[in-house]
Amino acid sequence: MTSQPATRPAEKISLPLATADATDDGPQGALAADPPLEPTEELLAELAHQSERLEEATPQEILRWAVERFAPRFSMATAFGPEGMTIIHMLSEIAPETPIFNLETGYQFQETHDLRERVKERYGIEVEYKYPELTVEQYEAANGGPVYKSNPNQCCFDRKLKVLHRAARGLYAWASAIRRDQSPDRAKAPIVGWDHKFQLVKVSPLANWTKKDVWSLITKEDIPYNPLHDRGYPSVGCWPCTRAVLAGEDERAGRWSGFQKTECGLHD
Ligand code: SF4
Repeated sequence: MTSQPATRPAEKISLPLATADATDDGPQGALAADPPLEPTEELLAELAHQSERLEEATPQEILRWAVERFAPRFSMATAFGPEGMTIIHMLSEIAPETPIFNLETGYQFQETHDLRERVKERYGIEVEYKYPELTVEQYEAANGGPVYKSNPNQCCFDRKLKVLHRAARGLYAWASAIRRDQSPDRAKAPIVGWDHKFQLVKVSPLANWTKKDVWSLITKEDIPYNPLHDRGYPSVGCWPCTRAVLAGEDERAGRWSGFQKTECGLHD
């Protein structure tokens, strides 16, 4: 793989200010839905049963079950990674009306924005941008400069996690693109389980897939993907915290390089 420079967006995207309901107080996730879905013993038993039952199912079968059980309060957050692109492809065939959103931190690569447009062209699916409270300019001005340089955890919290909590409010369930073979923490992920952090049901249709399975489907179905993957970036996040990896490095070594950080906090 060659390592050509990735492209920062030509113009910084102007982000809207937070609305009144953008606070983190009150019920979260499915507890804020009407009617709420609560993690009762009965629900947790149902999820455990379904998770076991779906262990041998295909990702499409898992998604079909999730849509039947939780739509229209079933959604998906995506950073347009290869795994997420395969799920978008599957949802376009199974339930194209499923709301899909992206955490637009203001620091995403131009290639990522372009991929959102390609998804719209290919599938007619408009992935919704969810924005932090402050624009990049406001955020950096309020903090005396870019927070990602000194405290990426705080930056991820402000520009991803808080936004995700807000987006999850009122949903029953969402799809996650994690694979069990990505890390020891992810190895324990159930197919279906209660997401304690966000207080809703998390469905992981690709839990049993390998990286090879993902790329085989992308190739076979000509699924659009981020061109940065062909330029030495196996994992793409925000441009300040992503670099190309060297031969032999772990596939997530290019994320938050130089910091003791490997996750943005969404899956741990
Ligand atoms: S990945 Fe980097 S720039 Fe993006 S939100 Fe996290 S710390 Fe900020």
